[in-house]
Amino acid sequence: MAEKFIFESTKIEQIKDHYDVVIIGSGGAGLTSAIQAYELGLKPVILEKMDKIGGNTTRASSGMNAAETSIQLDHKIVDSFEDFYDETFVGGGKKNNPELLKFFTEHSVLAIDWLSHHGIKLDDLTITGGMKTMRTHRPSSLAPIGGYLVTELLKYIAKYRIPLFSGIKVSELLTEKGHIIGIKADAQKEYVIKTKAVVLATGGFGAGKDLLAKYRSDLLNLRTTNQPGATGDGISLAQSVGAKLVDMDQVQVHPTVQQDTPHAFLIGEAVRGEGAILVNNSGLRFVNELDTRKNVTKAIDDLGGTGAYLIFDSNIRKRVKAIEFYDHVGLVETGQTITELSDRINIDPKVLDNTVKNWNIIVRNHDDNDFGRTTGMERDVSNGPFYAIHIAPAVHYTMGGVVINHKTQVLNKDEQIIKGLFAAGEVAGGLHGNNRIGGNSIAETIVFGRQAGQQVFKYIQG
Ligand code: ADP
Repeated sequence: MAEKFIFESTKIEQIKDHYDVVIIGSGGAGLTSAIQAYELGLKPVILEKMDKIGGNTTRASSGMNAAETSIQLDHKIVDSFEDFYDETFVGGGKKNNPELLKFFTEHSVLAIDWLSHHGIKLDDLTITGGMKTMRTHRPSSLAPIGGYLVTELLKYIAKYRIPLFSGIKVSELLTEKGHIIGIKADAQKEYVIKTKAVVLATGGFGAGKDLLAKYRSDLLNLRTTNQPGATGDGISLAQSVGAKLVDMDQVQVHPTVQQDTPHAFLIGEAVRGEGAILVNNSGLRFVNELDTRKNVTKAIDDLGGTGAYLIFDSNIRKRVKAIEFYDHVGLVETGQTITELSDRINIDPKVLDNTVKNWNIIVRNHDDNDFGRTTGMERDVSNGPFYAIHIAPAVHYTMGGVVINHKTQVLNKDEQIIKGLFAAGEVAGGLHGNNRIGGNSIAETIVFGRQAGQQVFKYIQG
């Protein structure tokens, strides 16, 4: 068996006072831009404020969207950049930044190939809400994508000996005549590091009470799926050097989060993508489960605040490895029959049995007259044991952030480039419009992480 890979951050004593590029944040965007920059010959450093590496990326579960990939063709799926663009655009309320969305959709396949060249294989496909075709790539082990991706990217950070310091928080960007010349960071003491360029890969503010209070105080009482470091530091850093912000009030509330324990666990969209249905407290379906996150959340909210249940069977469970984990930590109710399951979740067995039977007919005929669902219908809910997970909406993702162009250059209020400042991943705003499609955030970190690495190289070359 292969030895388990354990990554160790660089010892803080080894920190230098100069690097070609400082990358702030160790999630998907930060790790990718560092690897890309290094492969172009630069000397990057990654600074991560938390002790734990990987940011919210480690929590991503469903997969990575991309179109026109050879993996799709292997599965006999003929897709197009246009469809990927259009479905993301409609899902985002047609508010997405077209320049970013075009670059994103057209480079998604290159991102899949780049990962593959680095031994990161996403050979299986699933689907997420708002998409019409299978373009959510995931590991064939069916494991959640986030942990897998971060571990595999860290293997390259280790192989290339790219310094990655954790427990060090960047607190200031230093500029001279309008361009970036360095940063200040705090660990046990303050460090001043000179650099030619900075990549903000600091993630969003889904755990940032101050920014949420400023832009979406109505969400302050909701739980969050975010790691505690997701406080929007990159947004404040960028603002301090004149960056423009966009869509700051666009915060995604994820519909299916189990929150009956002290933790809030996101139940990945792949569970519905592989066939689960949602029922209310009376055991009735109430929504197209694979509508966009925004719409499914609204339908659950309209039930009156007690959440809903995901219902699925053992065949669906086999298609999503994360369910083993959900069960392990006590989030899953089990019944050998639908009647037994109904008893466990206090729903009238006759009603739930009828709902499931009716759903199975809908799957057979591929015709959902009730709610118009057209995807995630490859298998029905008929093979016991049967399972239920109680879910309710929680804060998940911040669509707004720093304004960038498709080169990941950060723009100021006059839409001029701030020289030497780049941003990639959740910290940047505009790509997703008013609703992010599941599977697009991981794709965003790789597409724009690579782009940031390349553009920094070009910038430094002059
Ligand atoms: P993305 O998906 O866009 O890559 P993630 O949430 O996965 O974003 O990762 C962002 C990382 O940036 C997190 O690990 C977070 O702790 C880190 N981070 C945020 N602010 C700072 C800061 N001021 N200094 C250093 N690291 C930061």
